[in-house]
Amino acid sequence: MIPMMKEYRVTSPYGPRKSPITERQEFHTGIDLVKPAYANIQAFIAGTVVYANMGKAGTGVGGFGNTVIIKDKDNYLHMYAHLTDYCVSVGQFVDRGQVIGRQGNTGKSAGQHLHYEVRKNGPSFGFGNHVHPVKYVDDFYAKECPQPEKNPVDKPVVKVSVEINGKVLPEHGYLNNGVSSLPVRAVSEAVGVTPGWCPDNKAVTVNGKQLTVTNEAGTSYAPAREIASALGLQVEWDGSTKTVKLRG
Ligand SMILES: [Zn+2]
Repeated sequence: MIPMMKEYRVTSPYGPRKSPITERQEFHTGIDLVKPAYANIQAFIAGTVVYANMGKAGTGVGGFGNTVIIKDKDNYLHMYAHLTDYCVSVGQFVDRGQVIGRQGNTGKSAGQHLHYEVRKNGPSFGFGNHVHPVKYVDDFYAKECPQPEKNPVDKPVVKVSVEINGKVLPEHGYLNNGVSSLPVRAVSEAVGVTPGWCPDNKAVTVNGKQLTVTNEAGTSYAPAREIASALGLQVEWDGSTKTVKLRG
Protein backbone atom coordinates (compact mmCIF):
# COMPACT_ATOMS: atom_id res chain seq x y z
CA MET A 1 0.00 0.00 0.00
CA ILE A 2 1.35 3.43 -0.96
CA PRO A 3 2.03 5.93 1.88
CA MET A 4 -0.82 8.23 0.74
CA MET A 5 -3.31 5.39 1.24
CA LYS A 6 -1.84 4.36 4.58
CA GLU A 7 -2.98 7.72 5.98
CA TYR A 8 -6.49 6.25 6.00
CA ARG A 9 -8.09 3.57 8.14
CA VAL A 10 -9.52 0.74 6.04
CA THR A 11 -13.08 0.09 7.23
CA SER A 12 -14.12 -2.27 4.44
CA PRO A 13 -11.77 -3.95 1.99
CA TYR A 14 -12.39 -4.90 -1.65
CA GLY A 15 -14.19 -8.24 -2.05
CA PRO A 16 -17.25 -10.13 -0.78
CA ARG A 17 -18.91 -8.67 2.32
CA LYS A 18 -22.21 -8.13 4.08
CA SER A 19 -23.65 -4.81 2.90
CA PRO A 20 -23.72 -2.12 5.64
CA ILE A 21 -26.93 -0.75 4.03
CA THR A 22 -28.97 -3.86 3.11
CA GLU A 23 -27.09 -6.36 5.34
CA ARG A 24 -27.16 -8.80 2.44
CA GLN A 25 -24.15 -10.57 0.94
CA GLU A 26 -22.60 -8.46 -1.83
CA PHE A 27 -19.32 -7.86 -3.57
CA HIS A 28 -17.68 -4.67 -2.40
CA THR A 29 -16.35 -3.20 -5.64
CA GLY A 30 -13.97 -0.75 -3.98
CA ILE A 31 -12.24 -0.09 -0.69
CA ASP A 32 -13.65 2.09 2.10
CA LEU A 33 -11.12 4.45 3.60
CA VAL A 34 -11.63 6.78 6.53
CA LYS A 35 -9.89 9.97 7.64
CA PRO A 36 -11.16 12.59 10.10
CA ALA A 37 -14.50 14.16 9.04
CA TYR A 38 -14.29 16.49 6.01
CA ALA A 39 -10.61 15.65 5.48
CA ASN A 40 -9.11 16.58 2.13
CA ILE A 41 -9.15 13.75 -0.40
CA GLN A 42 -6.13 13.58 -2.69
CA ALA A 43 -5.78 11.71 -5.97
CA PHE A 44 -3.78 8.49 -5.57
CA ILE A 45 -2.85 8.49 -9.26
CA ALA A 46 -2.63 11.37 -11.77
CA GLY A 47 -5.01 11.70 -14.69
CA THR A 48 -7.82 13.62 -16.32
CA VAL A 49 -11.15 14.25 -14.61
CA VAL A 50 -13.93 12.56 -16.60
CA TYR A 51 -16.73 12.98 -14.02
CA ALA A 52 -17.32 15.38 -11.14
CA ASN A 53 -20.95 15.39 -10.08
CA MET A 54 -23.62 13.77 -7.95
CA GLY A 55 -23.82 10.10 -9.00
CA LYS A 56 -27.07 9.64 -10.88
CA ALA A 57 -28.85 6.29 -11.20
CA GLY A 58 -28.23 4.50 -14.49
CA THR A 59 -24.95 6.30 -15.26
CA GLY A 60 -22.64 3.74 -13.68
CA VAL A 61 -22.14 5.84 -10.55
CA GLY A 62 -25.67 5.80 -9.08
CA GLY A 63 -25.75 5.79 -5.28
CA PHE A 64 -22.17 6.95 -4.94
CA GLY A 65 -23.07 10.53 -4.00
CA ASN A 66 -20.70 13.30 -5.03
CA THR A 67 -18.19 11.47 -7.15
CA VAL A 68 -14.99 12.37 -8.94
CA ILE A 69 -13.66 10.00 -11.61
CA ILE A 70 -10.10 10.40 -12.87
CA LYS A 71 -8.83 8.53 -15.93
CA ASP A 72 -5.17 7.55 -15.69
CA LYS A 73 -2.65 7.15 -18.53
CA ASP A 74 -3.46 3.42 -18.84
CA ASN A 75 -7.20 4.14 -19.42
CA TYR A 76 -8.28 2.98 -15.97
CA LEU A 77 -10.82 5.00 -14.02
CA HIS A 78 -10.32 6.02 -10.40
CA MET A 79 -13.55 6.72 -8.58
CA TYR A 80 -13.63 8.80 -5.38
CA ALA A 81 -17.15 8.55 -3.97
CA HIS A 82 -19.43 9.89 -1.18
CA LEU A 83 -17.54 13.23 -1.12
CA THR A 84 -18.99 16.21 0.75
CA ASP A 85 -17.88 18.38 -2.15
CA TYR A 86 -15.29 18.46 -4.91
CA CYS A 87 -12.98 21.13 -6.34
CA VAL A 88 -12.10 19.77 -9.78
CA SER A 89 -13.99 19.80 -13.07
CA VAL A 90 -14.31 17.56 -16.12
CA GLY A 91 -11.35 17.85 -18.51
CA GLN A 92 -8.96 19.07 -15.82
CA PHE A 93 -5.63 17.26 -15.34
CA VAL A 94 -5.01 16.26 -11.73
CA ASP A 95 -1.61 15.37 -10.37
CA ARG A 96 -1.02 12.60 -7.89
CA GLY A 97 -1.52 13.99 -4.39
CA GLN A 98 -3.64 16.90 -5.63
CA VAL A 99 -6.70 17.64 -3.49
CA ILE A 100 -9.89 16.83 -5.40
CA GLY A 101 -12.51 17.31 -2.67
CA ARG A 102 -13.46 16.52 0.90
CA GLN A 103 -14.50 13.28 2.55
CA GLY A 104 -18.23 12.99 3.08
CA ASN A 105 -21.34 10.89 3.49
CA THR A 106 -23.33 11.64 0.32
CA GLY A 107 -25.24 8.95 -1.60
CA LYS A 108 -25.85 5.47 -0.20
CA SER A 109 -23.42 5.69 2.67
CA ALA A 110 -23.52 4.76 6.35
CA GLY A 111 -21.11 7.39 7.67
CA GLN A 112 -18.27 9.58 6.45
CA HIS A 113 -15.82 7.63 4.33
CA LEU A 114 -14.16 7.54 0.95
CA HIS A 115 -15.23 4.71 -1.34
CA TYR A 116 -12.30 4.34 -3.73
CA GLU A 117 -12.81 2.14 -6.74
CA VAL A 118 -10.68 1.38 -9.79
CA ARG A 119 -12.34 0.28 -13.03
CA LYS A 120 -11.09 -0.60 -16.48
CA ASN A 121 -12.66 1.98 -18.78
CA GLY A 122 -15.85 0.98 -20.63
CA PRO A 123 -19.53 1.95 -21.03
CA SER A 124 -21.13 3.57 -17.93
CA PHE A 125 -17.72 4.55 -16.61
CA GLY A 126 -16.58 0.94 -16.70
CA PHE A 127 -19.41 -0.24 -14.45
CA GLY A 128 -18.69 -3.86 -13.45
CA ASN A 129 -15.05 -3.75 -14.59
CA HIS A 130 -13.71 -3.18 -11.09
CA VAL A 131 -10.24 -4.40 -10.12
CA HIS A 132 -8.48 -4.71 -6.75
CA PRO A 133 -7.76 -1.04 -6.02
CA VAL A 134 -4.83 -1.49 -3.62
CA LYS A 135 -3.11 -3.99 -5.90
CA TYR A 136 -3.73 -1.76 -8.93
CA VAL A 137 -2.13 1.28 -7.30
CA ASP A 138 0.81 -0.75 -5.98
CA ASP A 139 1.44 -2.29 -9.42
CA PHE A 140 1.05 1.09 -11.11
CA TYR A 141 3.87 2.60 -9.07
CA ALA A 142 6.01 -0.54 -9.23
CA LYS A 143 5.92 -0.29 -13.04
CA GLU A 144 6.65 3.41 -12.96
CA CYS A 145 9.66 3.07 -10.65
CA PRO A 146 11.51 -0.06 -11.83
CA GLN A 147 14.00 -1.49 -9.37
CA PRO A 148 17.66 -1.04 -10.31
CA GLU A 149 19.58 -4.03 -11.69
CA LYS A 150 20.89 -6.16 -8.84
CA ASN A 151 24.09 -7.25 -10.48
CA PRO A 152 25.44 -5.63 -13.65
CA VAL A 153 27.20 -8.83 -14.71
CA ASP A 154 24.22 -11.11 -14.18
CA LYS A 155 22.24 -9.10 -16.67
CA PRO A 156 24.71 -7.84 -19.24
CA VAL A 157 23.43 -5.01 -21.37
CA VAL A 158 26.26 -4.97 -23.92
CA LYS A 159 29.20 -7.30 -24.48
CA VAL A 160 32.41 -5.36 -25.00
CA SER A 161 35.76 -6.29 -26.51
CA VAL A 162 38.96 -5.80 -24.58
CA GLU A 163 42.11 -4.65 -26.33
CA ILE A 164 45.49 -4.46 -24.62
CA ASN A 165 48.28 -2.59 -26.40
CA GLY A 166 46.57 -3.17 -29.73
CA LYS A 167 45.82 -6.87 -29.19
CA VAL A 168 42.21 -8.01 -28.72
CA LEU A 169 41.67 -10.59 -25.98
CA PRO A 170 39.56 -13.69 -26.66
CA GLU A 171 37.62 -12.93 -23.45
CA HIS A 172 35.04 -10.16 -23.37
CA GLY A 173 33.75 -7.72 -20.81
CA TYR A 174 30.36 -6.13 -20.13
CA LEU A 175 28.99 -2.63 -20.28
CA ASN A 176 26.07 -1.78 -18.06
CA ASN A 177 24.82 1.61 -16.87
CA GLY A 178 27.92 3.31 -18.24
CA VAL A 179 30.36 1.07 -16.35
CA SER A 180 32.44 -1.51 -18.18
CA SER A 181 33.53 -4.61 -16.27
CA LEU A 182 36.48 -6.68 -17.47
CA PRO A 183 37.64 -10.22 -16.70
CA VAL A 184 40.29 -9.74 -14.02
CA ARG A 185 42.48 -12.77 -14.71
CA ALA A 186 42.57 -12.46 -18.51
CA VAL A 187 43.45 -8.77 -18.43
CA SER A 188 46.08 -9.13 -15.68
CA GLU A 189 47.80 -12.12 -17.24
CA ALA A 190 47.92 -10.34 -20.61
CA VAL A 191 50.38 -7.90 -19.01
CA GLY A 192 52.22 -10.55 -16.99
CA VAL A 193 50.51 -10.03 -13.63
CA THR A 194 48.93 -12.88 -11.67
CA PRO A 195 45.90 -11.72 -9.66
CA GLY A 196 45.74 -12.66 -6.00
CA TRP A 197 42.75 -14.30 -4.35
CA CYS A 198 42.20 -14.52 -0.64
CA PRO A 199 39.95 -17.50 0.21
CA ASP A 200 39.14 -16.07 3.68
CA ASN A 201 37.23 -13.03 2.50
CA LYS A 202 37.11 -13.89 -1.24
CA ALA A 203 38.95 -10.64 -2.02
CA VAL A 204 40.55 -10.36 -5.46
CA THR A 205 43.71 -8.28 -5.67
CA VAL A 206 45.92 -7.09 -8.48
CA ASN A 207 49.39 -5.81 -7.54
CA GLY A 208 48.14 -5.73 -3.93
CA LYS A 209 45.10 -3.56 -4.71
CA GLN A 210 41.70 -5.03 -3.89
CA LEU A 211 39.13 -4.83 -6.68
CA THR A 212 35.35 -4.55 -6.59
CA VAL A 213 34.43 -7.81 -8.28
CA THR A 214 31.29 -9.49 -9.52
CA ASN A 215 31.38 -13.16 -10.44
CA GLU A 216 29.76 -14.91 -13.33
CA ALA A 217 30.27 -18.54 -14.33
CA GLY A 218 33.53 -18.79 -12.39
CA THR A 219 35.01 -15.61 -13.83
CA SER A 220 35.64 -12.50 -11.76
CA TYR A 221 34.91 -9.15 -13.37
CA ALA A 222 35.95 -5.73 -12.08
CA PRO A 223 35.37 -2.17 -13.33
CA ALA A 224 37.78 -1.30 -16.14
CA ARG A 225 39.08 1.79 -14.33
CA GLU A 226 39.94 -0.21 -11.20
CA ILE A 227 41.84 -2.88 -13.12
CA ALA A 228 43.62 -0.30 -15.28
CA SER A 229 44.66 1.67 -12.22
CA ALA A 230 45.95 -1.45 -10.42
CA LEU A 231 47.96 -2.45 -13.49
CA GLY A 232 49.17 1.09 -14.24
CA LEU A 233 47.44 1.18 -17.63
CA GLN A 234 45.64 3.96 -19.49
CA VAL A 235 42.02 3.19 -20.28
CA GLU A 236 40.03 4.45 -23.23
CA TRP A 237 36.55 3.63 -24.52
CA ASP A 238 35.89 3.22 -28.25
CA GLY A 239 32.13 3.51 -28.63
CA SER A 240 32.10 2.74 -32.38
CA THR A 241 33.59 -0.75 -31.93
CA LYS A 242 32.42 -1.18 -28.29
CA THR A 243 35.97 -1.83 -27.17
CA VAL A 244 37.77 -1.01 -23.96
CA LYS A 245 41.35 -0.15 -24.93
CA LEU A 246 44.09 -0.53 -22.36
CA ARG A 247 47.60 0.78 -22.92
CA GLY A 248 50.78 0.92 -20.93
ZN1 LIG B 1 -17.37 1.21 -0.43
